[in-house]
Amino acid sequence: MQILSKLPNVGTTIFTTMSVLAQEHGAINLGQGFPDFMMSEELIDLVNDSMKAGNNQYVHMNGLPALREELSKKCLKLYNNNIDVNNEITITPGGTYAIYTALTTVLNKGDEVIVFEPAYDSYIPNIEINGAIPVLISLQYPSYRIPWDEVRAKITANTKMIMINSPHNPTGMVLDEEDINQLKQIVAEHDLFILSDEVYEHLIFDDKKHLSMLNYPELFERSFVCFSFGKTYHCTGWKLGYCIAPKPLMQEFRKVHQFNCFSCNSPVQFALATYLKNENAYLSLGKQLQQKRDYFRTLMQQTPFKLIPSHGSYFECYSYEGFSEQNDFDLAVELTKNYGIATIPVSSFYKNKEDNKVLRFCFAKKEETLYKAFERLKKIKF
Ligand code: PMP
Ligand code: GLN
Repeated sequence: MQILSKLPNVGTTIFTTMSVLAQEHGAINLGQGFPDFMMSEELIDLVNDSMKAGNNQYVHMNGLPALREELSKKCLKLYNNNIDVNNEITITPGGTYAIYTALTTVLNKGDEVIVFEPAYDSYIPNIEINGAIPVLISLQYPSYRIPWDEVRAKITANTKMIMINSPHNPTGMVLDEEDINQLKQIVAEHDLFILSDEVYEHLIFDDKKHLSMLNYPELFERSFVCFSFGKTYHCTGWKLGYCIAPKPLMQEFRKVHQFNCFSCNSPVQFALATYLKNENAYLSLGKQLQQKRDYFRTLMQQTPFKLIPSHGSYFECYSYEGFSEQNDFDLAVELTKNYGIATIPVSSFYKNKEDNKVLRFCFAKKEETLYKAFERLKKIKF
């Protein structure tokens, strides 16, 4: 028996590839985006208590009502959007799942979706598996800003959706007001849906403000906005997230969701419903992570890598153009094997493997890990 692959050109994700290689070679893993520091003990205790209290059975298919309630309060406070708890939020097993479900909800065969590259690696396969067509636009190197004129030029009668990700993985780029204005004009002119990946909403630095689709009624009315608790609470392995969308969009989203996942992990939802009341836990995140980023930046100044400045996410991109002509994948492998540092080659976030000689480093690590990594990186000789 043979499977006619729906994703014939897809291999193993770069995150797994580099994490496995890092393990094999005992390398410090600054590749895949996950913290190596401990998450909140209080949140762990809340999950423990919740299990012991017997909260171990299915909760409502749309997510635990108390958790949706807290999320709705948070949206009102942060983004001035009074989300309808019953009709506009669904808890999902992670942000990636929310993105996949939103795309599957909207896309039909032959639909076109505007995707900016470098792009988080699930986007393009998630579009293609639905028979739709990713229309790729490169962010301008090295600023990684969106070329809005090109967006306009690439819109056709088949364009259904535009995907936005801010703070952006892998570059750390964040949208500004001018981007929002451009987006408003374009989606209104062409009646497009928006998929907004905002999993790094709180990981934003240098006093920048996260500009969420939730904040703008004329954008929200056409948006699926996706979030991840994994990123907000340093528990990427918990795989819990949520999607917010206006009622008519969410109704269709739930049709797809209910027969795929139905109901997500219940004890964690009970725990989060309590923990979300602690605003400081998410409001202090930007400052906390900025310290790590700044520490890493200072160390990296003493290595041959050249910073490509940015303001958000778990990541910073560095150019190595000045000291090596290797392609970025080969260099990432060599650094892992010979210097004990795993990174992610940014070409993996481009369908055609565009190589600007840039590596992505995850700085969501203990200072001692970052320092150890620096000691290895400063020995690089080419
Ligand atoms: N989008 C982006 C850009 C990400 O980096 C991540 C993190 N892995 C996700 C979505 C989703 O995260 P998760 O599925 O782990 O909640
Ligand atoms: N978002 C994480 C990253 O970019 C990894 C997610 C994954 O491994 N799929 O590194």
